Amino acid sequence: MEIHALHSEAWGRLNSLRSRLPHALLIAGRPGIGKFDLAMYFAQSMLCEQAGDDFAPCGKCLPCGWFLRKNHPDFRLLQPESEKEHDRASASEVASPADDAVSDKSAGKKKPSRQITIDQSRALDDFLHVGAHRRGARIVLVHPAEAMNRATANSLLKSLEEPSEGALFLLVSSEFSRLLPTIRSRCLFVPVALPEAEKCEEWLHRSGVGKDAKNWLALAGGSPFLAAQLLKEEQGLLEALLAELLKKTKFDPLGAAASLERAVKADKRRNALKRAIELMQKWLFDLFLACKGLLPRYFLAHVEVLRHCAAASSAENILAFNRKSLEYRLFCEQPVNSRLFLEEVFLNYAALFVTRRRLPCQVQ
Ligand SMILES: [Zn+2]
Repeated sequence: MEIHALHSEAWGRLNSLRSRLPHALLIAGRPGIGKFDLAMYFAQSMLCEQAGDDFAPCGKCLPCGWFLRKNHPDFRLLQPESEKEHDRASASEVASPADDAVSDKSAGKKKPSRQITIDQSRALDDFLHVGAHRRGARIVLVHPAEAMNRATANSLLKSLEEPSEGALFLLVSSEFSRLLPTIRSRCLFVPVALPEAEKCEEWLHRSGVGKDAKNWLALAGGSPFLAAQLLKEEQGLLEALLAELLKKTKFDPLGAAASLERAVKADKRRNALKRAIELMQKWLFDLFLACKGLLPRYFLAHVEVLRHCAAASSAENILAFNRKSLEYRLFCEQPVNSRLFLEEVFLNYAALFVTRRRLPCQVQ
């Protein structure tokens, strides 16, 4: 399944604009749904010289070849340096652009920037002021648009205010409210909706996600690209966490902390502790739903365990612990003793099931 079939509605909207194309589109929607891939596909189709009736790029003509080899002279991709190291750019839609560039002092080298820099924006000047190499448009794709810092955004704003003839800007964003209002106002908004679950599952199957596609999709809140990323990158953390949570109400908090700490240390990606807490927050959300007699949103395969745990606790206490988990999520971005931190987390989690009284962490 091609990306335009997954997002047929947004694709139709993009195609309807071809005859009166504005100079900037803001392609926006939830993280992890494939907006970047859709925007890239649209850009390729705009440059393709043998596109089909549905505007799908042929993939065979000379411009398609250039585009697929990432050297089309009429296309520029503006993205943070950190994105270039990612295997799949679409998966990076879910990375938080709020995490700015930092120096990896321990490694003695600077980490790739997580922002789009003003130098990248300035480098567009020549591109925008010379004619197209082919007969088509000159396209600049900015992803994620919210990764532009203020200086970059202001620089880009000038290009949007005085658009070069034949230039098209595609801004892709999961957090468009963070963009400068002056930038937003110069773009035509193209929303990309969450695809239907059936289409997502089919897309995941075709992408090699096996029989658990439905469960991974649920864990990703229905976002197919995020589901594929979770499967690829979060399996170790998830298995370690579930190994403890599935012990229901009788587990050893200190042992659970030790086990999860091992998984966190074995994880080579950044913010492993924070990501583990985020998984736990999803579990808490489902636990709260179970308390209310509702089906889980994220952990579809564990309805019975959730119900069992919910029966031993209360919605009030789960909400209180969930509020505490928001603090944990912020706290674990700092350098912390991960063992002590996780011991506190699991001791508080275990306390959910020993009393129905108000927890110490509950806000009075
Ligand atoms: Zn083509």
